[in-house]
Amino acid sequence: AEALPRKNSHGIELTDPIAIAPLQEAVEKMRGKHFLGGPIVDGVMDKAEEPVVNPATNEIVGHTANTDKHLIDRAYTSATEAQIAWDRLGGDARAKILDKVADLYEKHINDLTALICLEAGRTLNDGISEVREAVDFCRYYANGARKHFSEPQQLPGPTGESNELFLSGRGVFVAISPWNFPLAIFTGQVVAALAAGNAVLAKPAEQTPLIAARAIELMHEAGVPAKVLHLITGTGAAVGQPLIEDPRLSGVAFTGSTETARLINKQLADKEGPITPLIAETGGQNVMIVDSTALPEQVVDDVIQSAFLSAGQRCSALRILCVQDVIADNLLNMLKGACDELTLGDPSKLETDIGPVIDEKALGLLEAHRERMQREAKPLFAFDEGKKPGSGTFFGPQVVEIEDFSLLEREVFGPFLHVVRFKAEELEDVIRRINATGYGLTFGLHSRIEGRAHAVFKRVHVGNTYVNRDMVGAVVGVNPFGGQGLSGTGPKAGGPHYLFRFADEKTKTINT
Ligand code: NAP
Repeated sequence: AEALPRKNSHGIELTDPIAIAPLQEAVEKMRGKHFLGGPIVDGVMDKAEEPVVNPATNEIVGHTANTDKHLIDRAYTSATEAQIAWDRLGGDARAKILDKVADLYEKHINDLTALICLEAGRTLNDGISEVREAVDFCRYYANGARKHFSEPQQLPGPTGESNELFLSGRGVFVAISPWNFPLAIFTGQVVAALAAGNAVLAKPAEQTPLIAARAIELMHEAGVPAKVLHLITGTGAAVGQPLIEDPRLSGVAFTGSTETARLINKQLADKEGPITPLIAETGGQNVMIVDSTALPEQVVDDVIQSAFLSAGQRCSALRILCVQDVIADNLLNMLKGACDELTLGDPSKLETDIGPVIDEKALGLLEAHRERMQREAKPLFAFDEGKKPGSGTFFGPQVVEIEDFSLLEREVFGPFLHVVRFKAEELEDVIRRINATGYGLTFGLHSRIEGRAHAVFKRVHVGNTYVNRDMVGAVVGVNPFGGQGLSGTGPKAGGPHYLFRFADEKTKTINT
């Protein structure tokens, strides 16, 4: 079947009081309510007793649970049986259901955004973008299912021989997602696996099971059979092993840290039986180069957007800003001024730029890094601690100057920017140092020198390069997203090759 023309989803105009009123009402209505995010196996939610905390207030917003081993076993049994019919349904029929998921998400954009805000501490702006991204994933992968999973591809052959290539689901996929895009990444993985004809056991991050449970309910309501899609809540330590070690597992889609990806990869490698594929999208050590021809006002805006918004809790976020020495003092002064304007606080307030970091552990890691940088780096900007909210896990933006990348062995996941100065003749060396980090997720360049963008793009080993703009907010089908090396295995999420990694390929040759 032909793929239909596809459009990306619509947003809500935050400056329009009439457009924004239903969202604000949803936040107020849901504040103080209690939500359940326990395991959902065969469409039934199990008990949920572990508290889930709003990072902006430390208040309990709901409860979740570690899924016990027997329930995981039941989910595998159900999913293994139900996958066969789901796969036979074909790409067209599955696409209709996934389009319906997108419609339901759009219908519920206000309460989904409010729940993202209350559970994950994301600002309303971030929450809306996230629902839109989730909607886009549904429609994009639905389209892929229609295009590639409906009819076999006819292949050429000698006279008297017919050749066909079939794509089908592999079986049961485990989808493991992080808390920083608790709806979009969760949905993207699940929907891709479903579109390709797999059953799914979805494991959200322990911090964000409530929005995941709501997403599963909407997917079931749209027509994804309850036996095909199950929610397995709990910590990685509690449920990771039974999920990964089950012999009925056919593939893993993972997004999270490089360390966890390695661990899962090892567990898969040590398993008896078939070789299980792993799709891993992991962390980054993302750099932006600004040369002397860049437009300073635009650079400052893009740096603020890339390094500090979403509290720097994006895998794509800018971590190291390399500025050519001749413009550095001026640019850094402007940047300090812009940092001073940033507001830290309640993510449900429209005027808030930066919400909380996800939990005490994340806060502790950032505070330890700040302490270390106080000894080993030159301070450029430190957020005024007096302006920090009284409760919640908040960390104000910081900017320091460092001598070299080698000071940063690992990703610092928060609003912490490191600046390195370079001389014109050192550009090649900067590129070498970027590649030497081993990460390869996003990269930014600000330069008005014609030809430099392409020359640098060819040399840096990263998945997503952004020139003369910010380096976050990849759009499904427009900026396919994913990295290389320590940043992931590919293929790119929201790109034309993603679904194939969830599929088995079979060719049929008939001597007619
Ligand atoms: P994480 O600690 O690796 O956790 C990610 C997921 O893996 C969570 O659901 C976690 O569960 C689970 N997990 C942990 N240990 C496990 C185990 N032994 N077996 C199975 N699952 C296990 O990462 P995070 O802190 O949530 O997320 C932040 C990281 O994600 C950053 O490094 C960021 O760069 C990366 N990220 C990458 C992308 C991308 O597209 N490349 C996008 C977003 C985020 P628990 O939470 O219950 O421990």
